[in-house]
Amino acid sequence: MDTYRHKGLRKKLVETIRAKGIKDEAVLRAIETVPRHLFMDSSFVEFAYRDSAFPIAAGQTISQPYTVAYQTELLCVKPGEKVLEIGTGSGYQACVLCEMGAKVFSIERQKLLFDQTKKLLQSIGYTPKLFFGDGYAGQPAFAPFHKILITAAAPEIPAKLLEQLKPGGYMVIPRNSDNGDYQIMMRITKKTDGTLDVEEFDKFCFVPMLQNKSFEGFEER
Ligand code: SAH
Repeated sequence: MDTYRHKGLRKKLVETIRAKGIKDEAVLRAIETVPRHLFMDSSFVEFAYRDSAFPIAAGQTISQPYTVAYQTELLCVKPGEKVLEIGTGSGYQACVLCEMGAKVFSIERQKLLFDQTKKLLQSIGYTPKLFFGDGYAGQPAFAPFHKILITAAAPEIPAKLLEQLKPGGYMVIPRNSDNGDYQIMMRITKKTDGTLDVEEFDKFCFVPMLQNKSFEGFEER
């Protein structure tokens, strides 16, 4: 259920992330609209509107609202664009993108999270296309995408995902620093002549984007 109290808490959250530097009004509106408390365990409702990350199933996290807003702002999503997200997790970021008017495709490698999130999003009326599989492979059947958003710490820029990016499109990716202690937010533009333009932004901390691991069950690490 979404109450006036929740709506009030979201307004405050929006003011917090605005004060931290998010300017895009469409992004702020989406954060004000998506009921974040529904993406977390019911016993955590008190925490849903703090600007912090929080544990979800399978040892994963729902990203901090500021981080979600930051990545969404860098993507510059326009209504009708096809956006591929890697790391569905709780589904919160996918729903923020839906609120921006994007056609959202999202991949998750944890079966438990995939199943839970699919059920949740159906019950609250958001309809991104969700896939259980390996984000490194992307979704060639639905490519090309105007925008690609990676929401886990990437050791490298995944080549197959770049292939699935439309010329003129952006990929936003938190790429590991040399020692892997943190991630540097990067925006890669695939120029119309096929070359890449790379911009670097602030430092963040994400759960890892895993490679060559079995899909089933809980986190192995
Ligand atoms: N966007 C999420 C936050 C996700 S945390 C949200 O809004 O809640 C990162 C997610 O990426 C985790 O759920 C993790 O299981 C997933 N992940 C990690 N490596 C992956 C891969 N190779 N392919 C797809 N998903 C991956």
